[in-house]
Amino acid sequence: MRKSDGRGKHTTTHRKLIVLENGSIVIDTPNMREIQLWGESDRVNESFLDIKKIAKNYKFNDCQHDSEPGCAVKKAIKEGKLAEARLASYRKLKKELLYLERKKKYGAEYANKLKYKELMGL
Ligand SMILES: [Zn+2]
Repeated sequence: MRKSDGRGKHTTTHRKLIVLENGSIVIDTPNMREIQLWGESDRVNESFLDIKKIAKNYKFNDCQHDSEPGCAVKKAIKEGKLAEARLASYRKLKKELLYLERKKKYGAEYANKLKYKELMGL
């Protein structure tokens, strides 16, 4: 941390731009209280229709495609029907949206705390 220069506030800006596969853009900046989201959130699901399709007939609606028994998405990856990278980017996007949602709800500090906790597996 640098010494106080009298300005008090942090002047660094960390801007994050997330481009979804369908062309929707999410911008997250610490200076904006409101999250800018172009395109409906349904579009997120639309860009991962392949995963949705595979998971459609699955018994758990809230399956994280992680270690759930009999996960169809995991099975598809095993059988080479779905690229593992697809699931990874799907997860990443889900995480980003969850983070943005929390940030909007609880503020950046708490959202970061939760993110850190999850990263550490706490
Ligand atoms: Zn699953």
